[in-house]
Amino acid sequence: MNIFERLESSVCCYARNFPVTFHRAVGVHLFDNRGRPYLDFLSGAGTLNYGHNHPVLKRALLRYIEHDGIAHGLDMHTSAKEAFLESFYGCVLAPRQLPYVVQFTGPTGANAVEAALKVARNVTGRHNVIAFTNGFHGVSLGAAAATGNALHRNAAGIPLTGITRALFDGYLGEGVDTLDMLDRLIADRSSGIDLPAAAIVETVQGEGGVNTASLDWLQRLEKLCRRHGMLLIVDDIQAGCGRTGSFFSFEPAGITPDIVTLSKSLSGYGLPMAVVLLKPEHDQWKPGEHNGTFRGNNHAFVTARETLEHFWRDDAFAQEVRQKGARLRDGLAAIAAKHPGSLVKGRGMMLGIEFESGDLAGKISANAFTKGLVIETSGRDGQVVKCLCPLIIEQKDIERALSILSDCVDEALGRTRPATLKRVS
Ligand code: PLP
Repeated sequence: MNIFERLESSVCCYARNFPVTFHRAVGVHLFDNRGRPYLDFLSGAGTLNYGHNHPVLKRALLRYIEHDGIAHGLDMHTSAKEAFLESFYGCVLAPRQLPYVVQFTGPTGANAVEAALKVARNVTGRHNVIAFTNGFHGVSLGAAAATGNALHRNAAGIPLTGITRALFDGYLGEGVDTLDMLDRLIADRSSGIDLPAAAIVETVQGEGGVNTASLDWLQRLEKLCRRHGMLLIVDDIQAGCGRTGSFFSFEPAGITPDIVTLSKSLSGYGLPMAVVLLKPEHDQWKPGEHNGTFRGNNHAFVTARETLEHFWRDDAFAQEVRQKGARLRDGLAAIAAKHPGSLVKGRGMMLGIEFESGDLAGKISANAFTKGLVIETSGRDGQVVKCLCPLIIEQKDIERALSILSDCVDEALGRTRPATLKRVS
């Protein structure tokens, strides 16, 4: 038995699917402790949009540490936080004319979601929140209540309350307008649904199976919220920070959520960091009401600032992401075309192929790993093979991953080809 088996809790899950010891990582590649390379199409579940150890970010961090920069500062003002806020305003908020103030929460996505739910409830004086089928918002109690997944819900150990479940776009197939149903239920004061404080939504559901809300649906959701005095919370923890081809995933819909949660790729370097963006009129916190020791991860502020200055000063990087996303989508469509019943889903570089069963998708993911591709499944039954490669990926690596995936689908369908693992220096 190795130390992991002897000492680590049975709760760990990714390690079961990728049972090696990873040792180092550069760009789009992970290397195990025997030097074997893996193309990383998991990217820390969307945390490494700029790849592993990006040299520009690494240099900035090393410089900061070398000069004894503040590492931990609670929520006190620090130069690193000041520089991050300046860049966040200059590169993200001002060009998009977004009015938000920034709340630094504890460094997990779940903690940002907890804060968003609390503030929405306190501002509106209502307790009920609408969350959608297959949504994933984290595993602490408030966030787990908003999450659909049975495994995570059942682990809570107490009833999860304060949420009414509504149907995500397309849940009942193309012909059914799920927002009309929700609108009717909220408008009918005898429907049994308490007037909601807010609706919380992912524009593309990451863990829920890369289900993608149409732009029209998002626009109408915003209108529905306004009509009923509800706040619109977009949980952009996985779909944000460029993943879908714009900094915020909701930009193409032209909506302005009342509250936005961001985490995962915000620091750019895989360092824990989360924020809640609030329209100023909703920033009604009393000092210290949503506290937390690690709301000042200054190392994350340093790399986050560098990320914004390097990638988000103009639209060039977003355009690049959209172009690469289009190529990746074409490649996935060609693979899906070989397997009737499978379907390409997603937007930008948040893409996946839905297969008829979790069993089949799981075999494809496991086989891909033996060929040097780390790629996970998501969705209700794990039926979606989800591509979350770093956005900085080069064309040749996209092609290589597509070729491995194609082989794995062939093999899962019984058309065997030899393994294609190559060494990368
Ligand atoms: N919200 C979304 C959309 C997520 O994808 C996740 C994590 O995958 C979370 C919230 C929770 O973030 P964390 O795991 O950092 O608590």
